Amino acid sequence: MNNVIIPNWHFGEKVLIFRSDRSKCDERPTIILDGNKLQYKCKDSDIGKILCSAELIDGMFEDGMIISISERGEVECLHHESKQEIDIFMTNKCNSNCIMCPVSEYDRKKSDERYVEWLKEYIKILPSDVSYINITGGEPTLALDIFFEIMELLKNKFQNSDFQMLSNGRSFADIFFLNSVIACTPIGTRFAIPLHSSDRSIHDMITQSEGSFEQTVRGIRNLLNKKQKVEIRIVISKKNCDRLTETVLYILKHFRDVFCVNFIAMEMMGNAAVNRKEVWIDYDEAFKKAKTAIDILVNEGVDVQLYNFPLCFVERGYWQMAANSITDYKICYMDECKDCKVKALCGGMFFSTKYIMRPKVKPVE
Ligand code: SF4
Repeated sequence: MNNVIIPNWHFGEKVLIFRSDRSKCDERPTIILDGNKLQYKCKDSDIGKILCSAELIDGMFEDGMIISISERGEVECLHHESKQEIDIFMTNKCNSNCIMCPVSEYDRKKSDERYVEWLKEYIKILPSDVSYINITGGEPTLALDIFFEIMELLKNKFQNSDFQMLSNGRSFADIFFLNSVIACTPIGTRFAIPLHSSDRSIHDMITQSEGSFEQTVRGIRNLLNKKQKVEIRIVISKKNCDRLTETVLYILKHFRDVFCVNFIAMEMMGNAAVNRKEVWIDYDEAFKKAKTAIDILVNEGVDVQLYNFPLCFVERGYWQMAANSITDYKICYMDECKDCKVKALCGGMFFSTKYIMRPKVKPVE
């Protein structure tokens, strides 16, 4: 899909569905492959404007694919019909600046005034029967101009989907704000919140934001008091790996009703890539450092998962906790993985982590 440009595109920025034949079209704005022509149809009654010959896009689109076309005709794939999970990116703004964030500080400060309209168009065109919606950012609750409106749109459209909100939890320290969020959020939404350490100075040093520990802790407590589903995330880095046991003991003491605790290996992009010498810890060392903490949680009946860990760095007895958590288009394997017997089960690694850290994988025989 990279580098596809529709020639002579002059309809402005659009979000469209691709149909491989006219009989499958509905009222949504569509790009149709009609015989040997690619056509653009913006309403049900339209005949469709011919864009180019089919050869130009040969095999690049799949039926039901949702694509974005820029003003200059550049095409980006947003969603495959076969995919049951959707990310709704609210904003790139964040009130923290975590040293291992996969987004850079520079990217978090960029803004695009047309984004709100674009996002509404995207939500409108999505199929309503997807299984899972991820509300993400930046910090999604900082999109104050659109947050409540978009949440209402999502709640009304995706009535049978599960929802997850990835948040640093700081906004939920304000109980009045939290009440408004709960009112517009589907029942059963999972709030996934990182707690970097039980030591406030370590947490605040990782977020590079003084006072963030207090706010996150109060946010988690407020959510649990409101009987919300909370997942606590611990991103393992050089900065917090020596206090994982203390951190889970703190969680058990203060947040006993937590839904689950997940340990996460880093994605080496953005701040994480810039600060790699300070933050990166090899996968196997990260697992070893987390093992006691995992055992404590499991013995206490708390669900645990490992995100972004290739299987060969995890002890066999813990493989069932290793989730295939990396988004399809970011998954990568090392060349040596081709002979690995468990490749089909392994969630691989991030593309960026492969190229920056060159992990020494151990193919399973
Ligand atoms: S060798 Fe490769 S495929 Fe096998 S477990 Fe490790 S990372 Fe996964």
